[in-house]
Amino acid sequence: YGDPNQKIDYVFKVVLIGDSAVGKSQILARFARNEFSLDSKATIGVEFQTRTLVIEHKSVKAQIWDTAGQERYRAVTSAYYRGAVGAMLVYDISKRQTFNHIPRWLEELQLRGHADKNIVIILIGNKSDLENQRAVSTEDAKEFAQKEGLFFLETSALEATNVEAAFLTVLNEIFNIVN
Ligand code: GDP
Ligand code: MG
Repeated sequence: YGDPNQKIDYVFKVVLIGDSAVGKSQILARFARNEFSLDSKATIGVEFQTRTLVIEHKSVKAQIWDTAGQERYRAVTSAYYRGAVGAMLVYDISKRQTFNHIPRWLEELQLRGHADKNIVIILIGNKSDLENQRAVSTEDAKEFAQKEGLFFLETSALEATNVEAAFLTVLNEIFNIVN
């Protein structure tokens, strides 16, 4: 996952948001370290993790921020959002309520976030491995994403499905905007 002495052309801050226990920390662990843990404790103190990748011959450091247990509505501080050029809005496909809360997260990101107005946002339905407990249809989520102008993917941090694709979608789009 990258040479530490490599020169960095870009640093992109991306924030993970969404209800508690939807899998944000595990999505990040999968992307940053290719790890997964079934009994993940809230990652207290760790603000962000990075991974450097190459996009069109430029080295891009993705700085991915994870809420350390601040998931209550309006508990996320504005410092968390500040300077973010990407956001991953995560729900759990097996928990309807986490999808119903997505509009709040979106509103918080857009109104309170002081985020870049060109911020690239992807809606992520995580835990796609729990197909037999599905409570949010792919169609519903797709329709919502389309209406709001968001990218959309279903992921499984457990099975490593689409996690890389979700980050690459956001990072490539940011890269295209700044270039
Ligand atoms: P966070 O509160 O949003 O950061 O959620 P965590 O990453 O701590 O995950 C909450 C729980 O869901 C943990 O027990 C994880 O192991 C589990 N989890 C996370 N991602 C997945 C997934 O893709 N599939 C399944 N089945 N469980 C997951
Ligand atoms: Mg977490």
